Amino acid sequence: MNALARAGWRTVTLADFTAPRTTHDAPRTFLLTFDDGYASLAEYAYPILGDLGFTATTFLITDYVGKMNTWDVRYTWKRLGHLSWADVEHWRARGFEFGSHGATHRRLTWLDDPAVEAELHGSRTVLMARLGPEAGHAIVYPFGALDDRVVRHTRQAGYALGFGGVKGNGDPLQLPRVPVYCGVLLGPGRCPVRSARRCPRRAWENGCTRGESVCGGNVFDAGHRSSVIGCY
Ligand SMILES: [Zn+2]
Repeated sequence: MNALARAGWRTVTLADFTAPRTTHDAPRTFLLTFDDGYASLAEYAYPILGDLGFTATTFLITDYVGKMNTWDVRYTWKRLGHLSWADVEHWRARGFEFGSHGATHRRLTWLDDPAVEAELHGSRTVLMARLGPEAGHAIVYPFGALDDRVVRHTRQAGYALGFGGVKGNGDPLQLPRVPVYCGVLLGPGRCPVRSARRCPRRAWENGCTRGESVCGGNVFDAGHRSSVIGCY
């Protein structure tokens, strides 16, 4: 982030990213996202970003806000805390944004229709009740897993933006992200790529637990030149 700031990059908000032909058309702008909403974001990442004048959007697992990570401890073998609602509201007041990462981080493509709807509606309802309607605009699909059925439910639930895995198709509910894990080097003109060899095995196996992801290029439509950087 320091390198990006020194190079003249700046972040855009979700609203900027969504709106066509606005400030985020400017070069060297990017949307920064975090998945899962671990408490360490408020401890380490947000203060650094704030000092740089950056913002970010964090996608929360709404049933785990303020709780420990029982949903992924089998991957991490570490007990990690999630952001509390007080944390969320504190950083929201400083310009940080929040969206949905499901209610329980279940893989939506493996669920039946009622369970998919419960994940999508449940998390969105909680977010909007706590944070206002803007918190119901975007979702990151847990594990980046989506298919036509999940996208249809997501649209019906009221989301306008959906971030998935490495592939997109131009649909705002199927925006791509390219995972980048620890040890990956970024530089001018260099597209971030996976680098499993440099990563701890568990980090590689569970991309939602540790690591970073970056989406670059025309991720929204041909009129948008911003990059999207996501960390999850
Ligand atoms: Zn996740």
